[in-house]
Amino acid sequence: MKKILLLVGIIFTAIVLGHSQYKTEKIVFITMDGLRWQDLYTGADSILIRHKDYVEHPDVLVDKFWNRDPLVRREKLMPFFWNTIAKHGQLYGNRKHGSKVDLANPYWFSYPGYNEILTGIIGDTVINSNNKIPNPYTTVLEVINNTSMHSGKVAAFGSWDVFPYIINEERSGIPVNAGFEPVTGNDLTEKEKFLNELQTQIPSPWHTVRLDAFTHHYAMEHLKKYQPDLLYVAYGETDDFGHDGRYDHYLNSAYTTDQFIKAIWEWVQSNPDYKNKTTLIIATDHGRGTNGIDAWRSHGVEWTNSDESWFAIMGPDVEAKGEIKHACQYYNSQYAATIAELMGVPYTQDKKMGEALDILKK
Ligand SMILES: [Zn+2]
Repeated sequence: MKKILLLVGIIFTAIVLGHSQYKTEKIVFITMDGLRWQDLYTGADSILIRHKDYVEHPDVLVDKFWNRDPLVRREKLMPFFWNTIAKHGQLYGNRKHGSKVDLANPYWFSYPGYNEILTGIIGDTVINSNNKIPNPYTTVLEVINNTSMHSGKVAAFGSWDVFPYIINEERSGIPVNAGFEPVTGNDLTEKEKFLNELQTQIPSPWHTVRLDAFTHHYAMEHLKKYQPDLLYVAYGETDDFGHDGRYDHYLNSAYTTDQFIKAIWEWVQSNPDYKNKTTLIIATDHGRGTNGIDAWRSHGVEWTNSDESWFAIMGPDVEAKGEIKHACQYYNSQYAATIAELMGVPYTQDKKMGEALDILKK
């Protein structure tokens, strides 16, 4: 009887207090398309950085990103990751230490990758192409947006024009600004107006993916203006420069995105509604191949090891353990349940799905 009373008490307290057992009130979730764990953990690749097929001005690139020591090199490439997240958060996926993060979808390319990440479903075969099909599954973004507490407080920004379909913008009601879409509304800031103008004037190298600076600055403006509870930002350049075989551009994008994330975090930590209440999670949708010198450009089942992934996490419910250097195994299918758990929102799928990461402070 006492046990039952205690249980009722706990449940009642949980309901009265509102949401979760965690300190997290806001989440910024970020993906960097196809950024390899190899570059994150060891910095610029010693062969690729000077390879004439992949780099136009090796001297400039070497000067910017090279050092014989991989620990110095990685900090040159992604200083926010190694100066801030490594001090205050946790980083997973350095396979040289046995820390493994893998995909749990059978395709190893983007739409199935983001579907896994955002729904948590394991081994799905319904989403098996990058075609613009409205997602039949409900993402964690949609489930959180459907709660009374967070309704209208979820937003997504992406460089790839398939995101409105992945998140099913029409059904979910979540604003998804992606591809070459301008921002609209009656309350545009001067910066948003200027971004809209520039976006039509600066040519993108690709027809389905815009340059990440647009995605980033649109997202920053939204963050400042609407203060969402859950913001998803999907950067894309690293993958497309990879496919183009431009290791110089790929590295420069990795660095720039690191600095974009730094800017988001600095704003978060300067705003009283976000400071010390925000969890930052950064992940990737897939790795890149290792079977052959040219394989880094590609990913998919025919490209060995392109199911190798990584993630970083930092916030009030994560201990400052830095880079995880022991054997462990996680999957991209676990972020959705983790986001739901941190927000205190029940989350299930009719299909097998990944469990929340067991790394949160209780
Ligand atoms: Zn790709």
